[in-house]
Amino acid sequence: MKRRNFLKFLTLSTAALLSGQLTNINCMKQQVRRITDMKNWIWLYSYEKFDTDESIFNYLSEIKSFGIHALLPQVYNSKVAHYQSSRLPNAEPMLERIIAQAKRVGLEVHAWIWTMPCNMEDIVQQHPEWYVVNRLDESAADKPAYVNHYKFLCPNQPGVRDFLRGNLEELAAIEGLDGVHFDYIRFPDVILAVNLQPKYGIVQDKEYPQYDYCYCDVCRDSFRRQAGIDPLTLKVPATHEAWVRFRYDSITSLVNDVLIPVVRSKQRHVFAAVFPNWQHVRQEWWKWNLDSVMPMLYHRYYDAGYDWIQSNIRYAVKTLPSSASIYSGLEVKAFDEHELGVAVQKSFEAGADGVSLFSARGMTDEHWRAFAATLKIR
Ligand SMILES: [Zn+2]
Repeated sequence: MKRRNFLKFLTLSTAALLSGQLTNINCMKQQVRRITDMKNWIWLYSYEKFDTDESIFNYLSEIKSFGIHALLPQVYNSKVAHYQSSRLPNAEPMLERIIAQAKRVGLEVHAWIWTMPCNMEDIVQQHPEWYVVNRLDESAADKPAYVNHYKFLCPNQPGVRDFLRGNLEELAAIEGLDGVHFDYIRFPDVILAVNLQPKYGIVQDKEYPQYDYCYCDVCRDSFRRQAGIDPLTLKVPATHEAWVRFRYDSITSLVNDVLIPVVRSKQRHVFAAVFPNWQHVRQEWWKWNLDSVMPMLYHRYYDAGYDWIQSNIRYAVKTLPSSASIYSGLEVKAFDEHELGVAVQKSFEAGADGVSLFSARGMTDEHWRAFAATLKIR
């Protein structure tokens, strides 16, 4: 039962009980939300254990027995495609192999892709204009923020939209695929999560120009036509409402007008990994026409705990349309086995339809046992 329907049901049931109209209590019990009904996912990005099809089959059979229903194999990492592609550099086509074995086991397979970063050297060389530009006029093509792979494309460049659309048309057409999962569907972080800042030796107490995107010619022209002002001339861009909104809307338009229609045209599920600190990556994800979202509730980066995980799930419950499902993205490595069980339980209590584990690599035998026990499977 969907969260909103459940809440509505509870309200109606309470009213019915009080008025003495509800006589069949068992009927109500059957419809109460249970932790055993959660749908659970797992992100998968290393394939060293998948040397044979039988090893894939055995691994998938095992994780299914622990309570996983759907796989998120990373099939495009901004450099190579792990599927047969005529458009992108090819690595081993793991997606097709995983789909074949997952069908035998009875697991869903959803392709996890990096969306906005593009680290293919020929694209960097041939289309430097596709990349986001910061307020210091530095392009992510040759001077990315934070780390070398932060080479993000600009969502407003027509060439970028065509490139992403074409890649997605090819991917979504793969036989047996259940869905497409967008990761990195955003701008670079204008402010990093609080516990990540020391890692880069920086303090981001406000928006600084070297991390603030995008001031490329297309974005500046587009905003100038819309608002009558060049964003480069703004004294405090962070507080200029229309300019802030322009960046939010740039990503939302790419997602709703370009990416989602492609996936839907192939009858695939469409969803995204999204940020709790959405303002800092210009990501108004609740406005996207997704089937589900996976907020990445990696609490240790935010110096936070279970309460924070729950408050973010409640925020998603409140802001998303009732048709969308919410899966709590948990960072496995940040938990011992007991803590992982608590995080799953707390996610369920806050209204999540399931959890998504990041990642398969971090799950120890103890984690799996605790996970299954929390789900009342073993
Ligand atoms: Zn731009």
